[in-house]
Amino acid sequence: MILNGLVVAAFGKRYEVELEDKRRISCVTRGKKTDIASGDQVEIALTDHREGVIERTLARKTLLYRSNAYKSKLLAANVTQIIIVLATQPSFYEALLNRCLVAAEEAGIKILIVLNKCDLKNDEALEKLNLYTALGYTTLPLSANQDIAPLLPFLTGEQSVMVGQSGMGKSTIINALLPNETARTQEMSVALDSGKHTTTATRLYYLDQHSSLIDSPGLQEFGLNHISQQALEQAFVEFRPYLGHCRFNNCRHIHEPDCAILSQVNLTISANRLAQYQLLTEELHRPIS
Ligand code: GDP
Ligand code: ZN
Repeated sequence: MILNGLVVAAFGKRYEVELEDKRRISCVTRGKKTDIASGDQVEIALTDHREGVIERTLARKTLLYRSNAYKSKLLAANVTQIIIVLATQPSFYEALLNRCLVAAEEAGIKILIVLNKCDLKNDEALEKLNLYTALGYTTLPLSANQDIAPLLPFLTGEQSVMVGQSGMGKSTIINALLPNETARTQEMSVALDSGKHTTTATRLYYLDQHSSLIDSPGLQEFGLNHISQQALEQAFVEFRPYLGHCRFNNCRHIHEPDCAILSQVNLTISANRLAQYQLLTEELHRPIS
């Protein structure tokens, strides 16, 4: 018998699936298939009252993932929004922020940038963030361990995924949003997974009937090998008005003559963002060694 379900947690090759009757079961895939993410709608065949095999993934509305030259890692399926969590300390990697932005722009989802731990003053972090506010991104100062309320309106009606370096406060945010739920779900993961992969899991939490939040493990790197040169350029939102206006139509905006992007540097395009873009472009075209 085939049943419909929602993937609510992914631990490597094992998945926790919630069936339509709210029952939660532990699932594996057929063969070596691992391209399934939290948030995926799936069809499963029960093999036992608590276990099943995922037979099929239904068409996705969105898919957020990262990849290096060899493989890709799915982060979340069917999300409408990414919440990128930064903090005033420890200092955040701006390159990682830019990579998250590119992946989100490419996936076509809304973007919210949270600067957490704003109770700890850090003008440098605020200043770094200003660049992104000026680009039109929604940025939200927060102190998750003091008051989570400012975040709530951004979650309503959205299927969100939260990403960030470890130490930025993601667990604190989850605990503030769902004080009762987290201990319970963690217990369940341990039971389903014999505790082996729980630290690398992504997990979906229901916030209300229309809103959910997927938590992902702390990110240190975010490879973008799956992104085309064209998508990369488009993902730098301030480049858009100038794309197609360079002398060469295959211009990569590195050091070509009469480049419409380079001519805007320190005008409408910051040197910082150009440098971030150039690093990503070089990485994209680097031969696989
Ligand atoms: P995660 O690795 O992203 O899950 O980060 P945690 O939620 O574990 O938080 C890392 C550290 O930052 C912990 O010691 C938290 O207590 C602390 N922290 C989280 N949010 C805040 C905040 O808003 N203000 C301050 N001062 N500390 C915070
Ligand atoms: Zn150019």
